[in-house]
Amino acid sequence: MSQTTQDVIKQYDRYVMNTYVRSPLVITKGKGSRVWDIDGREYLDLFPGWGVSGLGHNHPWVTTAIRGQAGRMFHVPNNYYHPLQAKAAKQLVDVSFDGKVFFTNSGAEAVDTAVKLSRRWGNGRYEIIVMEQSFHGRTMAALSATGQSKYQQGFEPLLPGFVRVPFNDLRAIEAALTPKTCAVLVEPIQGEGGVRVAEASFLSGLRQLCDTRKLLLIADEVQTGMGRTGKWFGYQHYNIEPDVMLLAKTLGGGFPIGAVIAKRAVADVLTPGTHATTYGGSPLGCACILAVFEAVEKQRLLERVNTFSAYIVQRLLELKQRLPIIREIRGRGFMIGIELTIDGRPIVEACRAKQLLINCTQERVLRLLPAMTITRAQLDRALTILEAVLAESSASVPPGSTPPSGHPHASLCEAKRWGWTKRWYLSGWEGGMSPASGRDCGCHPLSCFRKKAGGWGST
Ligand code: PLP
Repeated sequence: MSQTTQDVIKQYDRYVMNTYVRSPLVITKGKGSRVWDIDGREYLDLFPGWGVSGLGHNHPWVTTAIRGQAGRMFHVPNNYYHPLQAKAAKQLVDVSFDGKVFFTNSGAEAVDTAVKLSRRWGNGRYEIIVMEQSFHGRTMAALSATGQSKYQQGFEPLLPGFVRVPFNDLRAIEAALTPKTCAVLVEPIQGEGGVRVAEASFLSGLRQLCDTRKLLLIADEVQTGMGRTGKWFGYQHYNIEPDVMLLAKTLGGGFPIGAVIAKRAVADVLTPGTHATTYGGSPLGCACILAVFEAVEKQRLLERVNTFSAYIVQRLLELKQRLPIIREIRGRGFMIGIELTIDGRPIVEACRAKQLLINCTQERVLRLLPAMTITRAQLDRALTILEAVLAESSASVPPGSTPPSGHPHASLCEAKRWGWTKRWYLSGWEGGMSPASGRDCGCHPLSCFRKKAGGWGST
């Protein structure tokens, strides 16, 4: 007898650790931007694998690469050589900056590697400046680097040496520097932190600061990398180069592999015996990386991301005009955040009921990470569902209870006049403001001037 959704959920309840908030959806098959549940129901997936399946589910070229390589060899230990690791490393360097690569199995492991690399390079300096609202993963070092206390509670003592500052605030970084600082870790777009784009002046200023103070600039591109933002890497929108870059997710087209790329002089501080990982850079993983490169290049996926992204944003901005529950549309390329004035989690569930999969982060930010191969027809269908669900949710918000959209200053003051709670202030407004620029309205310690972020924003 075939299994039902309830059968599988029961087995999970009994045998799988309960570390995830899961929707009651049992997925058995995927293809491109579509997945099917255990009953054969089809869904459109606009959040494929949390960014892992950036080429769509089982892209045919990745599948062919896996089949071909599986017939030859899965794994070669790292005390020997194999041609695919060399080739994948060269491809990564060719599209980024001159350096060397260390292959990992996940994003968090790439972060851990970067922490070790920074400490060894620092030669006694060990402090790493990290951003508030950042997310770097769940291993102990990556967790300690993450700028959100909610993930760290219960796991203390954390690894020492991480100093947290507000995102997009260069002055705060300057103020946090000590003789022990060796590096600054930053996501070009904070994904889990609410799809918040680094400002151009912030990253260029940070590059200069790192040069003057001899610090490593580490870009965590686990989510933004491999074409997600419409360029190979998020930092490439800023006319700067990091010293170290971290990759995972789309890198293997669904296969678990990550990478750390470091400029040569930095990479060379890791000498034989100082760092290792048994599975890292396997022929199977590297064959997948090569297939991803081939697909992005030959299928011209970066162009596709840029064209379709403009279309999505235009539709969402039109929707924002009609629906006051939409506060802001932001992001870059195929990394799109829709900040709402209401809880976004019921909207995710309502979309799922209409066979569309999306995500919500920071309670109010709907997050879309479409596959780079998505078709225009699929996008249209997905947007139509999303628009309908948002319109329904908007209609159920009582008139007068929706905070106004528009310039944060006016809205913030209005919000205060209307007696909105402090909690609302924080979750509703924090994302768009910079605490660096002082008090401008006298009603909140955060600045009301929203500097235009490097990407697009609707306010
Ligand atoms: N860094 C960033 C920016 C991420 O978004 C994530 C995961 O979402 C990680 C690191 C951790 O990656 P992984 O889950 O592969 O360990």
